[in-house]
Amino acid sequence: MTTKKRITVITDPKYQLHDTGGGEHPEVPERLQVIADRLAGGKLAAFVDMALPRPATRSELMAFHPESWLFRFEESVLSGRTFIDHPDNQIGFESYDIATLSAGAGLCGVDLIEQDDGHGQNIVFCSTRPPGHHAEPTRPFGFCFFNNCVIAARYWQQRYGRRHICVLDFDAHHGNGIQTAFDEDGEVLYISIHEHPSFSYPGTGWAEEHGLGPGKGKILNIPLAPGSGDNQVIDAFDGPVRSLLEQFQPEAFVVAAGFDAHRLDDMSGLAYSSELYAEIGRRLFAWSNQFCSGRLVSILEGGYHLPILADCVENYLSGLLNPEP
Ligand SMILES: [Zn+2]
Repeated sequence: MTTKKRITVITDPKYQLHDTGGGEHPEVPERLQVIADRLAGGKLAAFVDMALPRPATRSELMAFHPESWLFRFEESVLSGRTFIDHPDNQIGFESYDIATLSAGAGLCGVDLIEQDDGHGQNIVFCSTRPPGHHAEPTRPFGFCFFNNCVIAARYWQQRYGRRHICVLDFDAHHGNGIQTAFDEDGEVLYISIHEHPSFSYPGTGWAEEHGLGPGKGKILNIPLAPGSGDNQVIDAFDGPVRSLLEQFQPEAFVVAAGFDAHRLDDMSGLAYSSELYAEIGRRLFAWSNQFCSGRLVSILEGGYHLPILADCVENYLSGLLNPEP
């Protein structure tokens, strides 16, 4: 492996403090532990630096979430409730603070990329929880409380003036909250490849949805039938995804990096291999350099089969690090 590139993993041991109640809940603190262990001890160890996040501020969160949701979330936590709206959205006493720290990771990632003199030499992966892409402006959804990717994209626009941002989501599930944010937005492109909404949570993400008003043409949903695997994903990336990016000319990428479409992860009926994530990483590295000097931040979303999650994250980062297979 000959490369000058480095991988910065933004993570914090405090993320383990978001308590989803143990028992049957799949979004467990151990998810981040298996990733940290693999990156510290695996084949990428010599290329990985760790960095701590800062919490997102109220005004940064409010780029997407009205203050009424911040108050309701905080009050629910302080009053000792164990979930908000649905048992999927488990909380403990630390959850509000940890969710703000989770949202902050992407902002630190954007800062790192913008301060990188090496142009594309810094690969940033935010290993965070709780995840974000299902979170709607005023309610939690599917383990998500603050929409980490939306908040990062808005920060990139507001702090650094990058207007044309592509949010690319390869989690097994459609990022309904991201689509809500950008449905009528003329500047941000949302691309999601996910299991078809007829068969999968959250039941959104139809191919016919292309965005509304000024956002028309800036949503690309690619729903895949259960059982779909590597070939369908590669065809989508090398076909419609690539051609839309060429038309859109992104100035930065925020990647909703979920790993629950793996064939052994029972959160979806998709059947991706571990190796596919390296292929995805290679393409994203090439495109982020082609279009925008390597400005790309990846933020963890799903991925619930613990050993497989570690494999997939490692492969994805290998693909970003080594564009040649
Ligand atoms: Zn998912």
